[in-house]
Amino acid sequence: MNPLPTLLDLTRDELVAAAAEHGVSKSAAERLFREVHREGGTGFGKVRGLEGRYVIDPLEVVTRRTSADGSTDKLLYRLGDGELIETVLMRYEADAHRRRRRTVCVSTQAGCAMGCTFCATGQQGFRRHLEAGEIVAQVVAMARIARAEEAQVTNVVFMGMGEPFANYDRTMKAIAILNDGRGLQIGSRHITVSTVGLVPEILRFAREPLATHLAVSLHAADDATRAAILPVNRRYPLADLLAACRQYSALTGRKVFYEYVLLAGTNDSPDQARRLGELLAGTDGHVNLIPVNPTAEGPWRRPPEAGSDAFQAVLRDHGVPSTVRVEKGIDIAAGCGQLRARALP
Ligand code: SF4
Repeated sequence: MNPLPTLLDLTRDELVAAAAEHGVSKSAAERLFREVHREGGTGFGKVRGLEGRYVIDPLEVVTRRTSADGSTDKLLYRLGDGELIETVLMRYEADAHRRRRRTVCVSTQAGCAMGCTFCATGQQGFRRHLEAGEIVAQVVAMARIARAEEAQVTNVVFMGMGEPFANYDRTMKAIAILNDGRGLQIGSRHITVSTVGLVPEILRFAREPLATHLAVSLHAADDATRAAILPVNRRYPLADLLAACRQYSALTGRKVFYEYVLLAGTNDSPDQARRLGELLAGTDGHVNLIPVNPTAEGPWRRPPEAGSDAFQAVLRDHGVPSTVRVEKGIDIAAGCGQLRARALP
C-alpha cells in the first residue's frame, strides 16, 4: 500500500481548495497552513476532513548526529515507503539583526542517478524523486529544532542527496511553498539550488519568477578531467555549460556560484587553477573551493591547506573571486550521502 501524501505537499491555495471540499473556511485552512509550516504543528485543527487523506510529518528519524563543535546536525530520515534521505542543519553566529541563523541542506531525491565519482550518494544509484512536500518537510523539521534553540531557519540550500534539476517541477513547487509569506517565508535570495550542470534546466531556471541563487558543480576546468569526475559532462560539456551560465546571468542579472571540490592530485594543480581562471575570467561568477570530505569508500584525499590557498591565488590573478569553504560537520559524515551509506546493510 502506498503511504499517504503529506499535507506539506500542498501550496496554500491548494490547501484552501482541499479544505473547501470539506466545508472548511478559507481562514481556517490558512491558519492550518501557518500552523504546520511556520509553527511546526502536527495536528489538523478544524480541518478534520483531511485527516486520513494526508499525514503532516512524513519523516521518521533514523539517526541524528551532532558534530563535535556543535555546529552541525545531520539527520537520516525514513520516508513512508522505507526510502532513506538525509538533511543537514548548520548553525551560524547571530547576524546584524541578532537573529540566530540556521541553514538547512535538503535532499531532493532518494539516491541519485548522476554518478559523480566522489559522492557517496552517486555510488549508491537512484531510488526515486522526492515529492515537494517531502522536501518542504525537511525544512519544517529543522525549523522545529531551530525554534527550540530560539533560532530561525534563514537559508535553504538544495545540495543534499539528488540532483534538484532532475526533479525540477517538485523542486520549484517546494521553493514556492518555502517562500510563502504565511509559511516559513524563506526569502528567495536565501535559497540556493545546486546543479551538476543540466543545461536545459539552467536556462529554464533563469526564467523562474523567484530570484533564487544558482550554484553549479564545476569541479574541473577541462572536459576530460570533468567527465572522469562527473559523468554528466559527456552530455553537457564545459563549453555548453558555461554558455548556459552566461545566459543565466544575462537574463537574471545574478551571478553564478561555481562549486569546485578540490581533490588532491586530480583537479588541484596550478595548471588546473590557471585553466579555471581563463574559463571564468570576465564572467559574473564566484568560485567556492571545497577541500573534499573524504569518504571511507572513495580514493580521494584533501589537498594541504597551502594548496587551496595557492589555487585561490591563481584565480585572483585572473580576476575571478573565490572563497575556500571548509565543510561543516566533517566528523559526522555531513558530505552528501555518507550517512545513508553507513546505515545501509
Ligand atoms: S554530487 Fe549530487 S548530483 Fe552528484 S551524484 Fe552526488 S547527489 Fe548526485
